[in-house]
Amino acid sequence: MQNIVALTELLKNPKQILITTHHKPDADALGSSLGLAGYLKKKGHQVTVITPSDYPDFLNWMTGNEDVIIYSPGSDALVQKIINQVDVIFCLDFSALSRINEMGEYIRQAQATKVLIDHHLQPEDFADISFSDTSAAATAELVFEVIRAMGDQDLIDVKIGECLYAGIMTDTGSFRHPSTSRNVHLIIAELLHIGVNTSNIHRLIYDSHTESRLRFLGYVLKDKLTVLREFRTAYIAISADELKEYDSKTGDTEGLVNFALSMEGVVFAAVIIDRVNAVKISFRSVGNFSVNDFARQHFDGGGHRNAAGGISYLPLDETVRKFVSLLPEHKNQLLEN
Ligand code: 5GP
Ligand code: MN
Repeated sequence: MQNIVALTELLKNPKQILITTHHKPDADALGSSLGLAGYLKKKGHQVTVITPSDYPDFLNWMTGNEDVIIYSPGSDALVQKIINQVDVIFCLDFSALSRINEMGEYIRQAQATKVLIDHHLQPEDFADISFSDTSAAATAELVFEVIRAMGDQDLIDVKIGECLYAGIMTDTGSFRHPSTSRNVHLIIAELLHIGVNTSNIHRLIYDSHTESRLRFLGYVLKDKLTVLREFRTAYIAISADELKEYDSKTGDTEGLVNFALSMEGVVFAAVIIDRVNAVKISFRSVGNFSVNDFARQHFDGGGHRNAAGGISYLPLDETVRKFVSLLPEHKNQLLEN
């Protein structure tokens, strides 16, 4: 509540505001950012949204998408200028400045007042005003809460509501993860009340596969899934050549890890992908096994207890060997799950 008072005071007069979110934004990252941007614009602020990287095409329908600046070496000077010019920087859906690449240090050094709204574990202490709630299902849920606490729920219109709905829908796995609280359903009821077309958003995000993405999924599930029953673990490793062969675009591998986790008896799943500068890993678990801890301990990453990510600078095959070699030391945790 103290933070709401501080934020209300901060936003009392029109401000120049930057909103940013994590590398490779997903629907919660972009949806919470564009939802908040829509609200702040209605309040008379000047708002810019900058993402540290590109994001999937299936998010392009969100209102405000056309004005998003995507960081790249080519936009570096412009991005630095904006970061140094604005009065307020909102950091959404990430808990450490290392998650936003080059922009992290620029923001650390910026004079602007920094506001964090996030639901990841172990937040870094860099913000002046922090709304960090690890029990929240999505950052979009927190954005809704913050707007409501400022007394402005009536400013949440269909366009803002669509963005927030997308974030909550995807981060709850379409309302099936344990994070799907009563509060989540009550917020969704409010969004339905103002006319958000929820089934259309589901279709835009989940039923918009290109043919090559669907064939890639078939190939991966048939030929690339490795199941290690002994450790109740399944993983998928994908090379750069395979990505190329199936013309894989940003976002095309999203959700793959959930297929590995959907098998009976499996409590830990990983998707290991050879990206341009490093190998990127997505981890998921069910039950008590903390992939946040696993990613932090072994792969310089983090996230939530049941959904986390990490990175490896070893070649793909060595990364896979490292991953498999770590399983025996976690066997007890995996089996007691
Ligand atoms: P995904 O596997 O969908 O990319 O990410 C799962 C969760 O882990 C998300 O909440 C994401 O923000 C977080 N995450 C993904 N990669 C990293 C990483 O390298 N470091 C940290 N700290 N979190 C990550
Ligand atoms: Mn999120």
